[in-house]
Amino acid sequence: MNVEANVLLSRFTTIGTGGPAAAFARPETVEELQEALVFAGERGLPVAVVGLGSNVLVADDGFAGLVLKLAGDLANVGVRQELLVAGGGAANAVALHRARAAGLGGFEFACAIPGTAGGGVRMNAGAYGGDWAGIIERALIVDADGARWLVRDELGLHYRRSGLRPGEVVAEVEFRLTPRPAEEIKRLVADLQAQRKAAQPTNKRTYGSVFKNPDHELTAGRMLESCSLRGYRIGGAQISPRHANFIENADGARSDDAVALMAEARRRAWDQYGVELEHEVVFLGDLELPPLVT
Ligand SMILES: Cc1cc2nc3c(=O)[nH]c(=O)nc-3n(C[C@H](O)[C@H](O)[C@H](O)COP(=O)(O)OP(=O)(O)OC[C@H]3O[C@@H](n4cnc5c(N)ncnc54)[C@H](O)[C@@H]3O)c2cc1C
Repeated sequence: MNVEANVLLSRFTTIGTGGPAAAFARPETVEELQEALVFAGERGLPVAVVGLGSNVLVADDGFAGLVLKLAGDLANVGVRQELLVAGGGAANAVALHRARAAGLGGFEFACAIPGTAGGGVRMNAGAYGGDWAGIIERALIVDADGARWLVRDELGLHYRRSGLRPGEVVAEVEFRLTPRPAEEIKRLVADLQAQRKAAQPTNKRTYGSVFKNPDHELTAGRMLESCSLRGYRIGGAQISPRHANFIENADGARSDDAVALMAEARRRAWDQYGVELEHEVVFLGDLELPPLVT
């Protein structure tokens, strides 16, 4: 397997920011994946996976480790009776297409989530009342020591998080779906996509929700909106004028601009509501939010 040096990660993130990965590989099989993990272990390199990069913010000076992008068999999708079987690197859009062609429903909510099957496990991705935890049967988890199947309850899935540890990679996911006519799936997806388009900046470069919804009557978006943050800009990054829990790459943004916006948003939510917002986006590399002055 080919390991490349200094691959620019801005190419692999939906926000389009981020510096280089010290090492980068595209394993295509479980064996190659394990080989890559052993390679990193022997050199003491931290490992990260990028799916479609739709919920990561990579430091401008990059990631001093090995970044993996699953490809080949590890990005395939198939159907076995009522199971949708997706490689960890398979795009949700492709998986949804296969499910619809096979007349299997239950994955429609994922039409709003521009990621992969594996990234969805890591984040317990969800939308419109559905999430990965609701449909996963089991997932194949690979680390430097080998591969093992974990059933849903062993994956530690909670609101936008899982129990996966660094260095554990989701190589394959089985989703249990239910028979549903393709036409019905199509209608449902069109309806969800229209709802999404009406509420969020779907035609901008973002990394999805910046913060998790707090335990509060207001969502993170509504809270930040009431802190007058819509349209607020630092450098090339801007809080979306449409939805205050999104940061857009307005013009040549750097990750540092996005972090500065996040710090300001957290400060205002704290000052105005006494709420400590927790970021949903995953940081890769040397990135940190300043502590709140309490
Ligand atoms: C416009 C937009 C709308 C969005 N809407 C939603 C939404 O409605 N609901 C929602 O939940 N999310 C949403 N997101 C966020 C994002 O799409 C999800 O979190 C998605 O599941 C991330 O998948 P990914 O493959 O892109 O992962 P990445 O963003 O590439 O990575 C996210 C995390 O998962 C890890 N990871 C990725 N692949 C694997 C793997 N195979 N094994 C182990 N770890 C892995 C990464 O290392 C990282 O820690 C949205 C994002 C955008 C840009």
